[in-house]
Amino acid sequence: MSTTTVHRVLNFSAGPAVLPESVLEEIRRDMLALPGVGMSVLEISHRSKAFEDILARAESDIRALAGIPSNYKVLFLQGGASLQFSMVPMNLLGAGQTADYIDCGSWAEKAIKEAKKVGTVNVAASTKGDNYSRLPKPSELKLTPGAAYVHMTSNNTIEGTEYKSLPDVGDVPLISDTSSNMFSGPIDIEKHGLIYAGAQKNMGPAGVTIVIIREDLLARAAEKAKALPTMLSYNVHAENTSLYNTPPAFAIYALGLTMKWLRDLGGLEAIDAINERKSRKLYAEIDRTGFYRGTAEKDNRSRMNVTFRLGTEELEKQFIKESTAAGLDGLKGHRAVGGMRASIYNAFPEVGIDTLVSFMQQFEKKHG
Ligand SMILES: *Cc1c(COP(=O)(O)O)cnc(C)c1O
Repeated sequence: MSTTTVHRVLNFSAGPAVLPESVLEEIRRDMLALPGVGMSVLEISHRSKAFEDILARAESDIRALAGIPSNYKVLFLQGGASLQFSMVPMNLLGAGQTADYIDCGSWAEKAIKEAKKVGTVNVAASTKGDNYSRLPKPSELKLTPGAAYVHMTSNNTIEGTEYKSLPDVGDVPLISDTSSNMFSGPIDIEKHGLIYAGAQKNMGPAGVTIVIIREDLLARAAEKAKALPTMLSYNVHAENTSLYNTPPAFAIYALGLTMKWLRDLGGLEAIDAINERKSRKLYAEIDRTGFYRGTAEKDNRSRMNVTFRLGTEELEKQFIKESTAAGLDGLKGHRAVGGMRASIYNAFPEVGIDTLVSFMQQFEKKHG
């Protein structure tokens, strides 16, 4: 097979985002025919043995990586994290109950908006007044005794903040939107009732959403499930091992390869150390002279999405223009907050951080 040399830019996109090059190579190698199958993953039946194996392997790698206990189900769903904003309350917020939501970013705000359409919501704390530049402190949380659940966002993709430890919610199930930092380091599954993540940031391509749900929450949802559209019921997907209808086969396959890549790398402890090193290097440059300014409060800084600004919007435009020309792609901040954002997920190569840092130093010399 001939391998053409292709030019790949440094991809700082917030999502869909960079994938490991070895995963892309494997996809390309097996694109015409999966070994021993004679068909591509795009063409096989989701009821075939070959696909069942792909699904089972993806699940067992996820379970092994995160040490998921047997009383949790792992579901492969569609509709993105955005559909989870609705599915969570539709399945788990009963009449007469209240759900607590921590409003710590733009995605949390969207989750709250959807939950309010379904039932009673208490915003337990909000940092919207600070442009979500920080996370609420534990002392700011006003939790509802006996709440149906507490919803949080573990990493705020747009604003660049990230929880370093989980809020204490007592016996109330903790539900976390982990879309942008799932498997960037160890995760304490047992402290959660439900965890969800759209895959396209840190786990694979777009098209599949991972939901990890504790069995007692499934039991609790069973009664409500009877009145729900079939496709929106966690119980239906759990009972059918994510094969109630046609799953996103290619996305699951590519996610599976990415999980295997992560295991081969040494798992969550290993990637944790790498992510710590990568983000430290970049924040050190941001803090070095004051030419750049980090937008998130220091204690709450994200290791995945590094947000920073320059003195003027003109200079920021220039930064984006020059960095793009230099092959550093996707550094423009989210339109809601402006400035710059470097998304440096698991698959973003460490050498790319060095390239960005030296670009930043040159840019400062030229314009500072
Ligand atoms: C990207 C993102 C979402 C939305 O994900 P979709 O898969 O596009 O629905 C939700 N929450 C967080 C934290 C995100 O980063």
